[in-house]
Amino acid sequence: MSEFSIIDEYCRGLGYSHPETQLSVGDDAAVVDVPVGMDLVVSVDTMVEGVHFFADLAPARLAHKLLAVNLSDMAAMGATPKWATLALTIPQVDSGWLRAFSDSLHSLAREYRVQLIGGDTTSGPLTLSLQIMGLVKKGDAIVRSGAREGDAVYVSGYLGDAALALQQRQEQGSVNNPLLLQALELPQPQVELGVSLLGSATAAIDVSDGLVADLAHIAKASDVSIELEVSALPLSESFLAAQAPIALALHGGDDYQLAFTAPEAVVARLEFDAKFLITQIGHVVSHGDEPVVLRSNGEQVPIRHKQGFDHFEK
Ligand code: ADP
Ligand code: MG
Repeated sequence: MSEFSIIDEYCRGLGYSHPETQLSVGDDAAVVDVPVGMDLVVSVDTMVEGVHFFADLAPARLAHKLLAVNLSDMAAMGATPKWATLALTIPQVDSGWLRAFSDSLHSLAREYRVQLIGGDTTSGPLTLSLQIMGLVKKGDAIVRSGAREGDAVYVSGYLGDAALALQQRQEQGSVNNPLLLQALELPQPQVELGVSLLGSATAAIDVSDGLVADLAHIAKASDVSIELEVSALPLSESFLAAQAPIALALHGGDDYQLAFTAPEAVVARLEFDAKFLITQIGHVVSHGDEPVVLRSNGEQVPIRHKQGFDHFEK
C-alpha cells in the first residue's frame, strides 16, 4: 500500500467539516479562515510506543488518547477545538490496525467537532504526533500566569486513577479494575468545562504530569505560591478501594483533569453543569520558598516524592 493510498483510505475526511476550512487534506498545506475577533490557539503532543503507551494498546484506544490529550490542552486554554493535523509514523502497513485507529479518531473528532486537515505519513518506530488548533475570543485565552493571591484552587474530576492503573500494570502486569484502566487509556478531555471557565478562571492548566508539578507551573508563571490541602483531593471509589497511596494523586500523571484558580466568590456564582465534579483543593498565597506547599488539616507536610514526570530526568 502506498503512502497516498494510506492517506486516502484512513486520513481523508476525518472528523467534523468546518465552513472555515478553505482547503483540507490533499494540497501542500491546509488553509483555514480564522474569523475576525478570534485568536488561533495551537498545541502539539507526541506519543511514542514504549514511552507513552504499551505496545499492546488497542489502536482505537491509542487514537482516542492521542486526540484526547491534545483536546485537554485546548480545554486548559478555554479554547474551542477546530482543526488537527496528524504526523503518523508506522513500522508497517497493517490495514486492520489503521482501520481501527482511523475509525476511533474519526469518532472522537466528530464528538468534539475537530476536523483533520492534514498531516504527514512516514515509516519508522510507531510514533504519533497530533497538532491541534482551536479558537478563542481575542485576548480571552486562560493562561498560566493569571493566578492572584487570595484565589482558590480547584480541580475537576478525580485524581490518581490513571497513575494507579499504570502502577498496577507495571507491578502486576495487568489492571484488574476497568474503571482505572479507562482513566489511563480513555481520558475524557474537559473541553466544555474549559470554555465555561472563560472570564472566571484567573489561570488554568491540564493535569498531565502530576497535580503538584502542574500547579507549580501556575505558581511560577503567576509569581505566587499555592497551598494544597491534601485531605481535599478528589479520589474515586476505585482509588479508595485499592487503598492507593495519596502520592499517586499528588504526583501521578495522565489525569487530564483541569486545575484552575479563581476567586471563590466568582466560582460560587458559576452554575456548573451537574456532570462536572469540581473540588476546591487549596489557595493561592503570596510567593514563598516553594511554589507548592502541602497541608494536611492545617499542618504542613513535606513533599517527599519526585515531582511529576519529566522525560529527561528519571
Ligand atoms: P507534501 O509532500 O507536500 O508534504 P504529503 O505527500 O506528505 O504532502 O501529503 C499529501 C497530503 O496528505 C497533504 O495535504 C497532507 O497534509 C496530507 N496528509 C499526509 N499524511 C496525513 C495524515 N497522516 N493525516 C492527514 N493528512 C495527511
Ligand atoms: Mg510530507
